[in-house]
Amino acid sequence: MTGCVFNIQKFSIHDGPGIRTTVFLKGCPLRCLWCHNPEGLEPSPEIEFEPSKCIGCGACVSACPAGCQTMDKAGRGFDRSRCDRCGKCADVCLTGSLKRVGRRMTVGEVMAKVLDDRLFYETSGGGMTLSGGEAFFQPDFALALLESAKEEGLHTALETSGFCSRAVMMKAVPLTDLFLFDYKATGEELHKRLTCVLQAPILDNLRALSDAGARIVLRCPIIPGANDTEEHFTAVAALMETLSGIEAADLEAYHPLGTGKAPKIGKTQAFRSAAPAKERMEQIRAFIQSQTKKPVRIS
Ligand code: SF4
Ligand code: SF4
Repeated sequence: MTGCVFNIQKFSIHDGPGIRTTVFLKGCPLRCLWCHNPEGLEPSPEIEFEPSKCIGCGACVSACPAGCQTMDKAGRGFDRSRCDRCGKCADVCLTGSLKRVGRRMTVGEVMAKVLDDRLFYETSGGGMTLSGGEAFFQPDFALALLESAKEEGLHTALETSGFCSRAVMMKAVPLTDLFLFDYKATGEELHKRLTCVLQAPILDNLRALSDAGARIVLRCPIIPGANDTEEHFTAVAALMETLSGIEAADLEAYHPLGTGKAPKIGKTQAFRSAAPAKERMEQIRAFIQSQTKKPVRIS
């Protein structure tokens, strides 16, 4: 079995306990306005182009069978409309100006990279985390990775938007030691406007996970001008109090990383906001904490 993977990040310390390897699977059904991994949205491989790294050697122009890469008096050009993402241009670009984003890997290939760091997991209480995109956009591959990690005795964590099939989510319960479950906005209309999907199925999955005895940490992005309201923060606290499976909430401050990444893959991200100040994050944390006994943290 193969899946499309766009990053395997070693020494992750923010994606679950201990030192971890985070495997980013490509593809996501959501379109959050502020997405900080726009290269993870499409399920298939893409080509990243960073003109500032181009030295004008012309290797990509010769390598591209479709004539998409050009170099003339007007400068370097990349016509994405005819590109079939074969990756031949990226393979010959020595400066990294052109790069493949995402490649198909087998479960065994991914696990070989993950198991390289077994010693670090054993000494730190870490393990493997699946992320994305939305890991369950490739459900069979995600489940196979979790199963393989459990067979190897690794701690497993899964970052998810919760927007996936209930059956798949339930299959993951015995294979996943910790769910890092996004909670992005409160209210159907706002949730749809900010993420392009409905909230109801996500909340239903969250309740089902909790009922099934899963361990859950809520992950709450704080996006000034989008979801930083008392109503939303009160709803976070209420969920924590209502669902026994939720152990804690991690608040994640918005950062504009996606704005810079999107043009490299030929996209734009129109959403603009400022990163919330430390004092504001602490104010929000204290507000939620005043309504729940479970830990509310800034991550
Ligand atoms: S191969 Fe890379 S460095 Fe050379 S012209 Fe193409 S993009 Fe520029
Ligand atoms: S990915 Fe293939 S088709 Fe697209 S620009 Fe590169 S070489 Fe040409």
